[in-house]
Amino acid sequence: MTDKYIRFYHTKAWQSARKLALVRDHYLCQECLREGIITYARIVHHIIPLRDNWSKRCDLDNLETICPEHHNQDHPEKATSNKQEAKHLHAQKKRADVFVFHANHELK
Ligand SMILES: [Zn+2]
Ligand SMILES: [Zn+2]
Repeated sequence: MTDKYIRFYHTKAWQSARKLALVRDHYLCQECLREGIITYARIVHHIIPLRDNWSKRCDLDNLETICPEHHNQDHPEKATSNKQEAKHLHAQKKRADVFVFHANHELK
């Protein structure tokens, strides 16, 4: 990924195309839907990657709503970093539980 792609995800054009795709797909993962599974999702995926066809970057026909699991399958190169992210989130959750425990304890 170069800066050109990173910057694109911050443009208004992308934000609105993304929103349109989500609404069109009813916030449901289209890959899950093909398997008959209803999964709410908020990731909008480029069917033809940006780097392969820059002109289709905001083309609704090239966008689909997808869940994180299916997205990782589409981007095996990203799977490792996403796994690390999941671990990180898990660690944060644990800390939050500890915090709640202490807060309750002090109230007593
Ligand atoms: Zn899915
Ligand atoms: Zn993608």
